[in-house]
Order: sequence, then structure tokens, then C-alpha cells
Amino acid sequence: MSNEARLKSIVIVGGGTAGWMAAAALARTLEYPVSIQLIESEDIGTVGVGEATVPHLRAFNDTLRIDEVEFVRAVRGTFKLGIQFVDWGSIGSRYIHGFGTLGHDYRGLPFHQFWLRLHALGRARELGEYSLNTAAAPRGRFMSGATDVPAGSPLSRVAYAYHFDAGLYAQYLRRYAEARGVKRVEGEIVDVALRAADGFIESVTLKSGARISGELFIDCSGFRGLLIESALESGYEDWTHWLPCDRAVAVASEKTSAATPYTRSTARTAGWQWRIPLQHRTGNGYVYSSPCLGDDEAAATLLGNLDGRALGEPRFLRFTTGRRRQAWKRNCVALGLASGFLEPLESTSIYLIQSGIARLIQLLPDRNMSPALQGRYNAEAEFEMERIRDFLILHYHATERCDSEFWKYCGTMSIPEPLADVIRLFRDSGRFYRNAEEMFALTSWVQVLIGQHILPAGFHPLVDAVPEAELIQLGDSVHGVIAACVAAMPEHEQFVARCCQAPAAA
Ligand SMILES: Cc1cc2nc3c(=O)[nH]c(=O)nc-3n(C[C@H](O)[C@H](O)[C@H](O)COP(=O)(O)OP(=O)(O)OC[C@H]3O[C@@H](n4cnc5c(N)ncnc54)[C@H](O)[C@@H]3O)c2cc1C
Repeated sequence: MSNEARLKSIVIVGGGTAGWMAAAALARTLEYPVSIQLIESEDIGTVGVGEATVPHLRAFNDTLRIDEVEFVRAVRGTFKLGIQFVDWGSIGSRYIHGFGTLGHDYRGLPFHQFWLRLHALGRARELGEYSLNTAAAPRGRFMSGATDVPAGSPLSRVAYAYHFDAGLYAQYLRRYAEARGVKRVEGEIVDVALRAADGFIESVTLKSGARISGELFIDCSGFRGLLIESALESGYEDWTHWLPCDRAVAVASEKTSAATPYTRSTARTAGWQWRIPLQHRTGNGYVYSSPCLGDDEAAATLLGNLDGRALGEPRFLRFTTGRRRQAWKRNCVALGLASGFLEPLESTSIYLIQSGIARLIQLLPDRNMSPALQGRYNAEAEFEMERIRDFLILHYHATERCDSEFWKYCGTMSIPEPLADVIRLFRDSGRFYRNAEEMFALTSWVQVLIGQHILPAGFHPLVDAVPEAELIQLGDSVHGVIAACVAAMPEHEQFVARCCQAPAAA
């Protein structure tokens, strides 16, 4: 890239999680003089939800050289080992999709293959008992990892994510970004000017009349997609027929018990309810399908299923699951809700912001906005979202529930062919192939497939070659190691209190 064409000004529109994550990461990474401005409107505000994450966020924090203890204190965070799914496969059933590993590979095959044979022999414990995360989470145990254990011990590398207060997270990143030169502009954008010659965004105009121009615009304006859609008409691929929830009602509640080291997702008549424990409160919300459930009924269900007093009035949100057809168009890249939304079932939105930022930095353009870079960005974004979409659809589709119109629809709807293929292959003999760099790995898919009651008809033929005694010994030894590790872990609440308790609220 010649110095002449190098980007000199970047304008980020929106100051929610996406905007401030982008600002912080670009300010940290672009080690040459470049002006980064972020425009946000306090009157419009942010979506105000998005409090559960996946372990990848730790890599983002590492890139930014964020100190974990300072971070968790600042965002009043807790730790997350996975998600507990209640009443999803059938009413009364529950399982945990945990991060991290499931047993360990043996004779070149993944552990679940041996579990399948143990299960067929009636000698298997529940699948969750063979993974540190899924065994520790329901027992309320957590530690971020130990250094004084053998290298192979599961405690040497615990896979975890965070729950945090979304408002505090944006504030934290704002302080970080502003300290590194990002200029924040308060105001509502009322006009977007396109260059006559090529349709590139030239500038945005604020209500105050101020005009802000830039070379690269990052649209983090939320669902409205102020630049990518209203100005550039990128188009939206609607996935409501596969992910039918289109509304949410959210409310925080008083903390009444020790914070669990996991998110809970409870399936309800027309969707599901989340429970996210923070240090100072619990976040709750009911994600539902509006053709199947009215807003009043959804709010009543949510309020009737809190484990503490509601803190304020429930807030309603509307969305359309799907993706922006071109997340990068001309000189505009959309991140966060402006680029699409897959619904929060597996807490993937903040991850998608992170991966969009990483991709943008990898494919950083100059002022000419090379179509080759754009093409690669959009192809990867599409692939990533489609694979996550299919993983989410699996939760809805693979169910025995038929107690409402919603679940009848989900159980019988047609699904994307790549997902149908995953299910066919797994049903046959428990095989699974991870597709290139897709986000969720084998362990995640296997836990959810089995958790949703898809039990394979057979297993890998090589497992048959293992003598029964060796097989049982394998299961016992994995379980023994996991049980010993869980016993050595402190209570999650104690861990937080000792290591990263937030100061009392002012
Ligand atoms: C119900 C629900 C639950 C969710 N739960 C999770 C979860 O658990 N985990 C997870 O990873 N994600 C979750 N998400 C997604 C997550 O909330 C978002 O990915 C994240 O908050 C990023 O939002 P954003 O920054 O893209 O948009 P927003 O927070 O909406 O921010 C948009 C910004 O643009 C500004 N803006 C808009 N228009 C203008 C204008 N005209 N002029 C100036 N500024 C403007 C606004 O002021 C605001 O600052 C959830 C989403 C929903 C709807």
C-alpha cells in the first residue's frame, strides 16, 4: 500500500458495544497516524442488552492488553462455563453446553465415540460428567485456571467467558479508546451524503449542522443500519422462517443467591428465557415469536419467572433474524446489529463483532477500497453467520416438544441442507465434521446434538475393537480426573469475591 492512499480518517457511527469495541481495537492496532472519530447519540441510546459472552472475548481483551481483574471489576462481571438449556429437548430435560473439552481423544477418535458405546452398554454416566465445565457449572464451582498442576490437568486451561453489564462494558471501552486518541462526537446524524462519482459515503451531517467526513465509515448504528442500509441499501436476508423469534422483553432483577457460573436458557411456550447472573443483579429476558405470543403475555411470563424482585419496568425489543447481504459495501463496513442479528441463544453477537473487527484489520483497505478485499470480507462474514445460524436452528428443530404452535412449527420446519447433513451424519454413527474455520467446534455440536436427544444409531467401528474392560477403564479414569478437579475448585461466588469483587455501587 502506498503512503499516498493509506487511510487517514475513520468514522465510526454508533457508541454501543460494537462501536466502542471497534474504536478500542482500531486505536490499539493501527500504529500509524490515523484519525478515529466515533459519533453517538445519547438521545437514541443503545440497545442495552448483550451481557453473556463466549471465551473468544478473552483473546480480544488480550489483544487490547486489558487486565482481567481490573476488567471484571469494572463491568461487575461473573464467569461463565457454558449455557444450561432447560426444557429444550423435551419438557423436564436439561443439559449444559459447556466450553472446553469433552473427555480426551483416544486411539485417534473423539471421546464421545467411546461414550456412545458405553451408553449402549448401559455403563455411561451423563455426558456432562466427562467435561470439567459441564461438571463444575451446576455445582457452582469455578476457577480461572491453576498454574501449580500438571500440564495435562484440565485445571491448567479452563475455558470460560464472562457475564457483564453491557452499559459498563461500553463505558470501559470508551475510556480505553479515548485514552488512545479516539475522538467522541455527541449528536444525532440526520443526513448521509454520498459522492456523486462512485456512491461512496462522503460525510454525515448532525442535527447541530456539523458535517463530519471520512474515508472509511464503520456502521455500528444498531438495527437501523443507518449507513449500510438506509444510505447504501445493502439489503437484508431474512431468516425468520428458521429462527422465528422476533421480539424480546428484558428486565433486571435483584440478586437473591450466589451467582451461577453459567447462563441459563429455559424454553417457554413461544421461545425461551435467559438468566444472566452479574455481581450486583441478574439479567433476564424472554425471546419470543410475536405471531405466537402477545407482548403482555410475554412480559407476564418473564415477570412470573424471576428469582428476585424486578428492578424497573420490562423493556421490549424487536428484531428480524438474518444478515446484511453485504456487510462491507463501498467505503462502509457494518459491525454489530447493523450487520445482522442471529438472536442471543448462544451469545454469539459480541463474538461476531470481535471477528468482524479482526477480519477488517486483516483486510484493512486503503482509500481505494479494493473490491478483492471487500469480496473476501463479505464471503467470510456470510460463511461464519450461516454456520452459527445452523447451530442455533439445531436447538429449535431437534426437539420432542409439540406442546404449542411454536414448538410444532420448529420441530417440523424445513432446515438448511448443511444442517440436515450434520444431523444425518451424526444420527448414523456419531460422526461430525467441522467446516473450515466455523466458530463452534465438535464438542459444542456433540453436546447440543445429544442434549437435544439426537442419539446416534451406532458408533465408529474402531470403538468396537476396544475391549470392554479398557472402555470402562477409560470412562472411569476421565470421570475420576474431572471429579477430582471439580472438588479442587472453589465456589464461583467465593472466587469472584476473592479475586475481582467490584467496589460497592456509589
Ligand atoms: C434481546 C437481545 C439480547 C442479546 N443478548 C446478547 C448476549 O447475551 N450476548 C451477545 O453477545 N449479544 C447479545 N445481543 C446482541 C448485543 O446486544 C449486540 O450485539 C451489542 O449490544 C452491539 O450492539 P450495537 O453496538 O451493534 O448496537 P446498539 O447498542 O443499538 O448501538 C447503536 C449505536 O448507534 C447510535 N446511533 C443510532 N442511530 C444514530 C444516529 N442517527 N446518530 C447518531 N448515533 C446513532 C446509538 O446512539 C448507539 O450508540 C442481544 C441482543 C438482543 C436484541
